[in-house]
Amino acid sequence: MDIAVNTSHSKYHVNDKGYYGRFGGAYIPEMLYPNVEELKEQYLQIISEPAFQAEFDQLLTDYVGRPSPLFFAKRLSEKYKAKIYLKREDLNHTGAHKVNNTIGQILLAQRLGKKKIIAETGAGQHGVATATVCALMGLECVVYMGSIDIERQAPNVARMKMLGATVVPATSGSKTLKDATNEAIRHWINHPVDTHYIIGSVVGPHPYPDMVARFQSVVSEEMRKQLLEKTGNANPDYVIACVGGGSNAAGAFFHYLDEEAVKLVAVEAAGKGVNSGFSAATSQLGKMGIIHASKTLLMQTEDGQIVEPHSISAGLDYPGVGPLHAHLYETGRAQFLNATDDEALAAAYELSLLEGIIPALESAHALAKLKDLPLKPEDVVVVCLSGRGDKDLETYIKHLK
Ligand SMILES: *Cc1c(COP(=O)(O)O)cnc(C)c1O
Repeated sequence: MDIAVNTSHSKYHVNDKGYYGRFGGAYIPEMLYPNVEELKEQYLQIISEPAFQAEFDQLLTDYVGRPSPLFFAKRLSEKYKAKIYLKREDLNHTGAHKVNNTIGQILLAQRLGKKKIIAETGAGQHGVATATVCALMGLECVVYMGSIDIERQAPNVARMKMLGATVVPATSGSKTLKDATNEAIRHWINHPVDTHYIIGSVVGPHPYPDMVARFQSVVSEEMRKQLLEKTGNANPDYVIACVGGGSNAAGAFFHYLDEEAVKLVAVEAAGKGVNSGFSAATSQLGKMGIIHASKTLLMQTEDGQIVEPHSISAGLDYPGVGPLHAHLYETGRAQFLNATDDEALAAAYELSLLEGIIPALESAHALAKLKDLPLKPEDVVVVCLSGRGDKDLETYIKHLK
């Protein structure tokens, strides 16, 4: 694994102060300072250790099922007149890319001597990925979840419980993800010594965005090898990924950030339309603010209160975007597009019929933009298929024509 690769020369990776351009940092309450400082001081050293990398590697291989295939999608390629490959994160254990990160963080937590894991979850996908690795390692797991989300996401709540986690309802505010996050942070303040907080995307205070990006960077590391084998060139023309907090995109972009010839396309959820009032297209609607202890782009009111986002896919329903992506947007290194609920649904049905793969609704947002890119027949395009569609079946059935 190349997760400890030196990136200090890069203008797109995090700098030694924890910033990506104007974005990032660690805007934490004083009482969390020792925890975050401990992580910041140790994470690079720990993930550089050969024994850590060997264990991470082995679990990714034998437990997660990596490397995930890079699949040439022939019929999709014929339709969009380019060479389209799918990076099959949907085939991972637990059905999405999120487990790459939770495996990395649980190994880190063990080396920091932590006995207990906390996490927050919206749709429950990160909660399940966290409960999974806690069961694997025999560590206690507490997952905070908004009480409304607990009702909406019953199957994932059942999975977490079956995996031995305690699911604690967050009953304040809007009773959704941001309230669950507040509860998790409150817990961490009260249990700073024995507890590690596993954040599920490239969000939160430094060093989380960089740490999570490194654990997910296995995605682009594999892509380079697989593309070289299949096309003779490690670099594609385009990499396309959906962005909620931005972790699958960060993983798919990581080893290409400094390869300016590779076009990076980030796709946000437009919900019912960017200007409909029911959207999660943060780069289009957001302004600089602080969310989850990080300075980044954030959907907010004139008074700086967080605006409730909307997307048909729970994994993209987040009012901010990680600081790396805010920087990629501001510098123009990545192109930011967005797809509506309806476009994502259409793309999910299309992939199912053309390739026999039912994608997660989140991943379908990335697929939905193939029609809007100026693709040429010789272009090599990689779409990060971040997850499988099993969890979205109810939504798909409701909209089946
Ligand atoms: C959670 C999730 C996402 C969004 O999270 P990122 O951190 O932006 O990757 C995307 N796809 C799937 C399948 C998810 O479960």
